[in-house]
Amino acid sequence: MSRDYKKAASGLIKGRVLFDAPMKQFISMKVGGPADSLLFPRSVDELRKVVRYARRKKIPFFILGKGTNLVVRDKGVRGWVINLTQGMKKIQMEGEVVEAEAGLPLQRLVQFSIQKGLTGLEPFFGIPGTVGGGVAMNAGAWGVELKDVLLSITLMKEDGEIVEKPHSRLRFSYRRLILPPSWIILKGRFQLKKGKKEEILERVKSYSEIRKRKQPLDYPSAGSIFKNPKEGPAGKWIEEAGLKGFRVGQAMVSERHANFIINLGKAKAEEVIRLMELVEKKIYEKKGISLEREVKVVGE
Ligand SMILES: Cc1cc2nc3c(=O)[nH]c(=O)nc-3n(C[C@H](O)[C@H](O)[C@H](O)COP(=O)(O)OP(=O)(O)OC[C@H]3O[C@@H](n4cnc5c(N)ncnc54)[C@H](O)[C@@H]3O)c2cc1C
Repeated sequence: MSRDYKKAASGLIKGRVLFDAPMKQFISMKVGGPADSLLFPRSVDELRKVVRYARRKKIPFFILGKGTNLVVRDKGVRGWVINLTQGMKKIQMEGEVVEAEAGLPLQRLVQFSIQKGLTGLEPFFGIPGTVGGGVAMNAGAWGVELKDVLLSITLMKEDGEIVEKPHSRLRFSYRRLILPPSWIILKGRFQLKKGKKEEILERVKSYSEIRKRKQPLDYPSAGSIFKNPKEGPAGKWIEEAGLKGFRVGQAMVSERHANFIINLGKAKAEEVIRLMELVEKKIYEKKGISLEREVKVVGE
């Protein structure tokens, strides 16, 4: 991509634009090379300008939430990376419906609902990332997925047009909302219910305790690496195959939770990816199970 496209990015919006932005600073696994340009549009109008320009000039782009489900390769990302966390993070409620913009941290949505005495989002307590990332990934825990409380979402299509889609017109699968390429989630409306605050807080406390006990939260990671296959939890198969503590360089299968790969400090994306491939190979050889990745690998 030529320098011209990089400059164009900063002329288009008032929001910040970073060039050759080190992606390891923007994702929870702390790996990855630079993105040509990292754009922080401050409003839907600015985002529309960016999307239309990218489409006209055929600049590839990618939406980054908080990067908690990503591995960015070591040579980084060509084209534009667009992040909505600087401007698009309003939240409001009407009755038992809460509406949150895509750039809002998912935990702010959860906290807001708890404060208002609304129940429905407790299982999501502790899942990092943004509202947009959560909806895109159909994030879930304890048998509940975001789709279960989602009423509708507002999207920007690849030509900048904005559409609202009710739940009935959306297609979800395990850890995924199926969208046409380049469509962007702008906000979600969540149907919650009035609940008893003490009971809500009690549920949150127990989910949070299990999370702290089971997950290696003191190391950089991208959460669960593999989707749970129909045969049972991926972590169970990885543990049974004796792979806890298995390492490639500074990337290691967590001793605490076998479906987490942790960065011991200076891991490269290449090490994380090689470790994922080795785990996949070993589980296939030992158990005949093909693990599918939950985490997304982007860049070159
Ligand atoms: C410690 C830890 C614990 C975790 N626990 C859980 C868990 O219990 N359950 C669970 O489901 N996940 C879990 N995760 C994974 C991750 O937090 C979720 O998948 C989260 O929803 C990702 O949000 P994000 O904003 O970080 O998205 P990113 O990682 O930035 O992006 C993920 C995908 O969503 C797309 N995307 C992001 N925003 C938008 C948007 N506005 N429009 C269109 N596409 C978009 C991106 O392009 C990318 O393809 C965990 C991760 C960590 C590090």
